[in-house]
Amino acid sequence: MSEDCIFCKILNGDFGTEFVYENEYLAVFNDIHPKAPVHMLVVPKVHVASLNELEDKHLMGELLAGVKEAAKRAGLKAYKTQINTGKEAGQEVFHLHIHVMGRK
Ligand code: 5GP
Ligand code: ZN
Repeated sequence: MSEDCIFCKILNGDFGTEFVYENEYLAVFNDIHPKAPVHMLVVPKVHVASLNELEDKHLMGELLAGVKEAAKRAGLKAYKTQINTGKEAGQEVFHLHIHVMGRK
C-alpha cells in the first residue's frame, strides 16, 4: 500500500469501486474514462509502480491469467491489452495495470 496511490486506495475499498473480478493477487475494475465499450484495468494488489519495477515472474503470470478471466467474465471474445510503462509512454497512474479493451 502506497499512501498517495489512487489504485492502492481503490484496492483498499476507499471509494467503493465495484470489482469485475478479484482474487488473492489482483483486482479488475472498469476504467473511469473508457476508451472502448468495455475498458477494464487489471491491477496487482501489491503496489508496483510499473512493469519496469515488477520482478515477480509468478505475479506476471497471474496478471495475464487475470486478463483472460476478466475478458471471459465481461463476455469479450476479442480484446486488446495495453501496458503503458513510463511517463513518456503515457503512463499516468504509477501503480502497474493492464488495460483490457474490447466490445461484446
Ligand atoms: P495509464 O495512462 O496510467 O496507463 O492509465 C491510467 C488509467 O486509469 C486511465 O485510463 C484512467 O482513465 C484510469 N483512472 C485514473 N483514475 C481512476 C480512478 O480513480 N478510477 C478508475 N476506475 N480509473 C481511473
Ligand atoms: Zn498503489
